[in-house]
Amino acid sequence: MRIVDHVISGGTSGSTGRTSPIFDPNAGDVQAEVNLGGQAQLDKAVDAALAAQPAWAATNPQKRARVMFRFKELVEAHMDELAHLLSSEHGKVIADAKGDVQRGLDVIEFCCGIPHASKGEYTQGAGPGIDVYSMRQPLGIGAGITPFNFPAMIPMWMFGPAIVTGNAFILKPSERDPSVPVRLTELMLEAGLPEGILQCLHGDKEMVDAILDHPAIGGVSFVGSSDIAHYVYQRGVAAGKRVQAMGGAKNHGIVMPDADLDQVVNDLSGAAFGSAGERCMALPVVVPVGEDTADRLREKLLPAIAALRVGVSTDDEAHYGPVVNQAHKERVEGWIQKGVDEGAELVVDGRGFSLQGHEKGFFIGPSLFDHVTPDMESYKEEIFGPVLQIVRAKNFEEAVALPSQHQYGNGVAIFTRNGNAAREFAARVNVGMVGINVPIPVPVAYHSFGGWKRSAFGDTNQHGMEGVKFWTKVKTITQRWPDGSADGSAENAFVIPTMG
Ligand code: NAD
Repeated sequence: MRIVDHVISGGTSGSTGRTSPIFDPNAGDVQAEVNLGGQAQLDKAVDAALAAQPAWAATNPQKRARVMFRFKELVEAHMDELAHLLSSEHGKVIADAKGDVQRGLDVIEFCCGIPHASKGEYTQGAGPGIDVYSMRQPLGIGAGITPFNFPAMIPMWMFGPAIVTGNAFILKPSERDPSVPVRLTELMLEAGLPEGILQCLHGDKEMVDAILDHPAIGGVSFVGSSDIAHYVYQRGVAAGKRVQAMGGAKNHGIVMPDADLDQVVNDLSGAAFGSAGERCMALPVVVPVGEDTADRLREKLLPAIAALRVGVSTDDEAHYGPVVNQAHKERVEGWIQKGVDEGAELVVDGRGFSLQGHEKGFFIGPSLFDHVTPDMESYKEEIFGPVLQIVRAKNFEEAVALPSQHQYGNGVAIFTRNGNAAREFAARVNVGMVGINVPIPVPVAYHSFGGWKRSAFGDTNQHGMEGVKFWTKVKTITQRWPDGSADGSAENAFVIPTMG
């Protein structure tokens, strides 16, 4: 059995003896085991990070950026290998796996411009002979705890900005698909990153708690489900750390009566069912405005759903592959049953789907619910599977209220030809990322990613300038170079200084 191990500078410091299975979602078998670490592995990694970080922080920003350039070239050269590895553990189709890697690389490209992006501010002559300037300094050691659904992109969201600003970084990826994070760590070292600056430790709650409590770790970035995000946020902050913790989602797509329904159906098919719905920016709720819009949309959705091809993740023709493991498959199917029990109309039932030759694989067919209402648990909670729910709204006001009042506030989209309606919707909706005729409004790397409400705890987003801010502390220096003309009088020394 293949064993996926930690990447710790100077060796792995033994083992806890605990492991976790890595499945092959296409076949339904265990394909490897990952070593789960604990306090001893973390302490070893922190020691290596403490030894290496001061010299890395003192390396000028162009040189740090050059490592990112070389890493980008290496990842591009290894794109096929990484996409296949990612797909084999996660189950997303190869083209989507390449997208996962590429969206992470976009952040690395941003990091290549760090000399410009991390410049401080300067005020000459803030007072008599006084200048004020600020500089951004690294936190020291940062840590990132990442979910299974983007095993390339989300680690790069975190370690790119953290490392290029001069921190050492400890990555704790999902134990369900840890091999790509390990390869990314190896490629960073191959790109010339000094030992100790990026290490990859595997584990579950035991490792996460050790990270949250470790006094030498100054900042923690987390992405995963909301209850755990909230827990990580509270425990990390209580230990005096800077924490950003992104959580779950239930994104709505509002369809106005004037929308181009063919385009909407095309967009929804990918946004609701792509990656088997295992995206925090998936669009699992569609809100047609008016009964007529709802009926026309439902009619067009049915043939589109019937045409979806569910296949093994290496099938170039497949629209989506299996979900990550059997437990998740059962969870999604449980939510479908819950929707039925709550009285929603199950128009298309994806349960019981079997792929010939891959009967043990974790496949779920696409499901469509109509007449879902806001009081239903299956509406309130995240399903994270290939399930689309239609919630009919009477008018625009009701359509704005639905995502605004939902417990999650990650992303939302509106489909319309009416600029005024779109503009008003974007201004009023209580959600962090908005798409206008864009179904998956994941901001580009030089903007920043982050939801509202239970979709994110903490006040700084991922990547872009928000990432630079999160991984650095501002130091502000007020300097005076006396010209010798002062009379030395201490008359005002006991009054709070003003600039006159
Ligand atoms: P998860 O919460 O189960 O796991 C996330 C991380 O937390 C993993 O590294 C895991 O090892 C660790 N973990 C698991 N149990 C823990 C515990 N009890 N205590 C401490 N740490 C624990 O999430 P997942 O299933 O891997 O990922 C899917 C979730 O992530 C979905 O809810 C999805 O919406 C969310 N997500 C959010 C974003 C975002 O940016 N908002 C992006 C991607 C995924």
